Amino acid sequence: MSDVIISVKNLKKNYGDFEAVKGISFDVKRGEIFGLLGPNGAGKSTTLEIIETLRQKTSGEIFVDGFNLDIAPNDIKKIIGVQLQTSGFYPSLNLTELIYLFAGLYNEIIDPMYLLDSVNLRDKAKSKYKELSGGQKQRFSIATTLINKPRIIFLDEPTTGLDPQARRNLWELIKTIRASGTTVIITTHYMDEAEVLCDRVAIIDSGKIIALNTPDKLIDELVDTGFERPKEVKKANLEDVFINLTGHVLRED
Ligand code: ADP
Ligand code: MG
Repeated sequence: MSDVIISVKNLKKNYGDFEAVKGISFDVKRGEIFGLLGPNGAGKSTTLEIIETLRQKTSGEIFVDGFNLDIAPNDIKKIIGVQLQTSGFYPSLNLTELIYLFAGLYNEIIDPMYLLDSVNLRDKAKSKYKELSGGQKQRFSIATTLINKPRIIFLDEPTTGLDPQARRNLWELIKTIRASGTTVIITTHYMDEAEVLCDRVAIIDSGKIIALNTPDKLIDELVDTGFERPKEVKKANLEDVFINLTGHVLRED
């Protein structure tokens, strides 16, 4: 089995005259949590959606677990899990019904309670998606990516808008999924999150990869240039204060 599970070579995507992705290349290793970081509009979602077979590329080559995207997109679809946007969930169905619906689409037999347990939502089995808190919605949508027992899951900004407790809770969930052998590709605007979660990150800006390494190496490289933080670094930050005062317990029920 190859060490590389996703290989992207010279990927380009134009929207009309606009070059959103300008010839990027990177590999994702089997079993890692790989982060795509970059400002809004950098081309992160475009890149992910192309790999997910949901968007056409302009040019370039992509292999997912040995399958060529141009030749075998359906084989790729079978081995990946993609987080739906919230609008993808029927509002009047409860979580158990939604899981049966997705399992049916994937032709999978699944125990909804087992799946809900794995994301700590057993209590919400009879609740409707719209009745969930932000963190619960994210946990549920991550659960739905696991229904077809994928080798890779794609998470596009899964923690945006969540409170610090819910964010940490999701980090634990993502680490558990990785520990079970699933490769994870994630985008985030939270650098603390990328530092904690990601084995390697690619930083993408205006459609180009401008850095790719482990968070640790990227930080060391910056320090080696003589960079120092302008402010004296304290032993804690405001987020530590917040967590210390309000605790790690989830507040969403
Ligand atoms: P990111 O996810 O990094 O914020 P996107 O991949 O969503 O960036 O978008 C990259 C660029 O492509 C942006 O400038 C965006 O406006 C543009 N773009 C994205 N989707 C489309 C589309 N369907 N049609 C035209 N332009 C698009
Ligand atoms: Mg995006």
